[in-house]
Amino acid sequence: MYKRGHLGVAMVTLAPITFWLLTDGYPVFAVLVAGTVLYLAMLPDMDHRVPGIPHRGPTHSLLFAGLVGAVFAGAASVLEPVLSVAVPGGVSMVAFGFLLGFGSVVAHLLGDVITPMGVNFLWPYPREWSLSLTTADSTLWNWGLFVFGVFAMAAAVVLAVRGLPV
Ligand SMILES: [Zn+2]
Repeated sequence: MYKRGHLGVAMVTLAPITFWLLTDGYPVFAVLVAGTVLYLAMLPDMDHRVPGIPHRGPTHSLLFAGLVGAVFAGAASVLEPVLSVAVPGGVSMVAFGFLLGFGSVVAHLLGDVITPMGVNFLWPYPREWSLSLTTADSTLWNWGLFVFGVFAMAAAVVLAVRGLPV
């Protein structure tokens, strides 16, 4: 999947989290989380740029997602005293940090698993999963996911600000 499609999947994943953070009264944190997830949306594709790493190999696995999660959990534990004033009460920053990193990578993998090339979730175990719904370069799918993501995010923000229509 191309960048536009990955951003779309990331925004669809973000929409419920954004809604939750906004309705709980944490707009700054919501923006911070959204920015981080969108920034990380293309992280696994760094294998295009790092020599010696096969494309959709180690960086497209749950192991890598766990690693990125661990890095974020570590950063969150360091930043906890600073962030504790700005995050929802009762949320463990370390757990949230882990889910942020882990979820960002998994969202990327979901964007790639719909293409015929598939994703090796359990790398280094040699097994590819693919839904073969579309090729990675499909304009329709990349734009479709992007527009769907923008719509989901817009809906989350509008519903959170205006309240649910009941
Ligand atoms: Zn990828």
